[in-house]
Amino acid sequence: MTQTLAGLDVATDSKDKRMKAIAVTPGKPNTIHLREVAKPRTEEVPGGRGVLVKILRVGVDGTDKEINAAEYGAAPPGDDYLILGHESFGRVEAVGPSVTELKPGDFVAATVRRPGLSIYDQISTYDMTTDDTYFERGINLRHGFLTEYIVDDPEYLVRVPEGLRHVGVLMEPTSVVEKGIAQAYEIQRRLRVWRPRRAAVLGASTLGLTKAPYLNSTLIDQVGARYVSTEEISLTEASRQFGPFDIILEGTGFSPLVFEAMDVLAKNGVLVMVSVTGGSRKVEVPADRINLGFVLGNKVAVGSVNANREYFEMGVKDLSTAELAYPGWLSKLLTHPVKGLENYQELLNTLTTAKGAIKVYCEVAPL
Ligand SMILES: [Zn+2]
Repeated sequence: MTQTLAGLDVATDSKDKRMKAIAVTPGKPNTIHLREVAKPRTEEVPGGRGVLVKILRVGVDGTDKEINAAEYGAAPPGDDYLILGHESFGRVEAVGPSVTELKPGDFVAATVRRPGLSIYDQISTYDMTTDDTYFERGINLRHGFLTEYIVDDPEYLVRVPEGLRHVGVLMEPTSVVEKGIAQAYEIQRRLRVWRPRRAAVLGASTLGLTKAPYLNSTLIDQVGARYVSTEEISLTEASRQFGPFDIILEGTGFSPLVFEAMDVLAKNGVLVMVSVTGGSRKVEVPADRINLGFVLGNKVAVGSVNANREYFEMGVKDLSTAELAYPGWLSKLLTHPVKGLENYQELLNTLTTAKGAIKVYCEVAPL
């Protein structure tokens, strides 16, 4: 086993101070590998505020795929590798002497962004930073969670009730949606009264499955929503039949759809954009009509990135409600587990090729 590990440095450190991690060399495509790194210590966080977390599960998504393709991602200063993984779930193993918020045995999910220098960073809304340089664990300038242990400040660790441990790995993706919807409601206070009646979520399909019936459409039906494939019916037509939509959450990764969504958005409606599109696609849009619709309809479009702990806490509440309202439903989203950090190649392959994958995740350690 050990001969396949990169960055091996066991001679200077005893075995229990080392741990495995899945990493890439940022800037070079297809460099995903397993390496040994130093196990973090609670003392690394100043003021006795360190929390040592044993990682149990880590979800992966398109971001990890794109980082491995060297489309973005940067190593922390002083390192030439980046530990992947931003969707974490773990259990507290030890806390520093000044930590009162968490104790060993607590289940936690870690937030992703870490503060920069702007005013927004300083008031704990680091997801709203105006700095050009931002810090994200597992993505940009900070190591991620696809490893055995992490250490962090309690500010960035959100407690998850034990009753949600089986779906705790969904916390980070949930937080992104929570922020998008919370931002929409915050903005809509402009209307004094806002009672959205119809919502559309764009981007709920899975790889290689674009026609019903399949897992996604069945799952969506089970919570009383309707699944519509854009292969069969356009957004404009869907809006005619089922809309107009007071809130549209756009998460397809296909930017032309943003403009179609603007066009069909209801009067006083809000469009929330949460998908990252790194390309340079250009399309022709009915600019006059979209502009006119926005002006005459008092419409809003807002972008939303990442999340801070407030949205993770909302996520805990909504995942709890979901589990009570539809017992067992959330677990069905966890379609593709991959056991063990050493199976990093299988993890990546599953992420890129598995048909019907909703959530691919690494079982780093048993729950
Ligand atoms: Zn993610």
